Amino acid sequence: MANNIVVLGAGVSGLTTAYLLSQDPANKITVLAKHMPGDYDIEYASPWAGANYMPVGKEGSAHQKWERNTWPALKEITDKYPEAGIHFRGTLIYNRKKDQESDTGKWFSELTQPNPWYKDVVPDFKNVPSDQLPSGVDSGQEFTSVCINTAVYLPWLVGQCVKNGAVFKRAVFKHIADAANAHHTGQKADVVINCTGLSSKTLGGVLDEKMYPARGQIVVVRNDPGPMMSTSGTDDGEDEALYIMTRATGGGTILGGSYQKHNWDALPDMNLANRIMKRCIEVCPSLVKEGQGIEGLDIIRHGVGLRPLREGGTRIEKDKVDGVAVVHNYGHGGFGYQASFGCAYDAVALVKEVLQNKSRAKL
Ligand code: FAD
Repeated sequence: MANNIVVLGAGVSGLTTAYLLSQDPANKITVLAKHMPGDYDIEYASPWAGANYMPVGKEGSAHQKWERNTWPALKEITDKYPEAGIHFRGTLIYNRKKDQESDTGKWFSELTQPNPWYKDVVPDFKNVPSDQLPSGVDSGQEFTSVCINTAVYLPWLVGQCVKNGAVFKRAVFKHIADAANAHHTGQKADVVINCTGLSSKTLGGVLDEKMYPARGQIVVVRNDPGPMMSTSGTDDGEDEALYIMTRATGGGTILGGSYQKHNWDALPDMNLANRIMKRCIEVCPSLVKEGQGIEGLDIIRHGVGLRPLREGGTRIEKDKVDGVAVVHNYGHGGFGYQASFGCAYDAVALVKEVLQNKSRAKL
């Protein structure tokens, strides 16, 4: 018996969930979304991400499990499918004690532990010897991470789903239950998977008041400094960040950033952009030629994305809305890629429960 499934949302959460579900030929999947890979919009977080793997989930939490379970999948894709636009890249993390209470310091508190849980997950983990730390930095870690070129990876996920028979359609819904009536077969969907990110705040039938944005501003440049790096904070404000991510397959280098909670501004702030570029060159002079400053950066674009944060954490849960079975998978903050497979595995397990109940009801 076929399972009619609607995935609402085509960001990394929706596409990863659809990709896993599409591997079972019994699942007939329609992916419906206002925005699709190729679009750049403030309501669509996924294209703006770096994106790399820098675990932040606290030891023993569901978040930790999602990140732990995601690494093997990202590693396998990187090893097996170069066309997916992911490569392995060394990454360096610098920690300053004075950042501990700032928004960025709290965000990275697990990442910057000297003996973190993820040391046994990622390859080549080591603490940076103290005599190799720049002045003002109290500790540092190094490991091999991945960097995902989102402009290649998101279309790759679409391609995998389409190859497995999934159908993609543009659609905008005011209410989640309406999505059940838009399955490509014309039949009502057995289950709708809600992967609408920050829009779960305003989507009828969900209206999740716990959702809020953490605004991330970036500069994408053609310069390639090699390894990636990140710091626990900056001296330019509690919600300003510093990271450099070198994307695979010609994706350029992402200079970040910011972590501005409750800020919805879609336009790049050029003063902030200047601070980002200056900070990145200070900490990584090899970004430009010797003696150069910001003028040595070859800018592709300025960008702003809104990380879909949720008080209390990501929501992966079964629900029933106006008689429609719903599985939620949203609220992935700044970790939607590095937790993508772990979260999607849990969402798929809930979808299976819904479908089993449907089969039992028909017996
Ligand atoms: P989104 O990508 O926002 O997708 C939502 C989808 O739902 C879209 O297709 C949208 O059109 C659709 N939709 C919404 N409402 C409706 C509706 N009513 N009707 C129809 N369709 C609808 N994460 C990492 O793991 N590593 C990183 O290095 C990283 N860096 C980041 C840097 C920046 C600057 C930003 C902004 C984020 C970063 N993130 C990173 C976080 C990551 O990008 C997000 O967690 C992730 O993209 C969220 O994906 P999503 O699919 O849940 O939501």
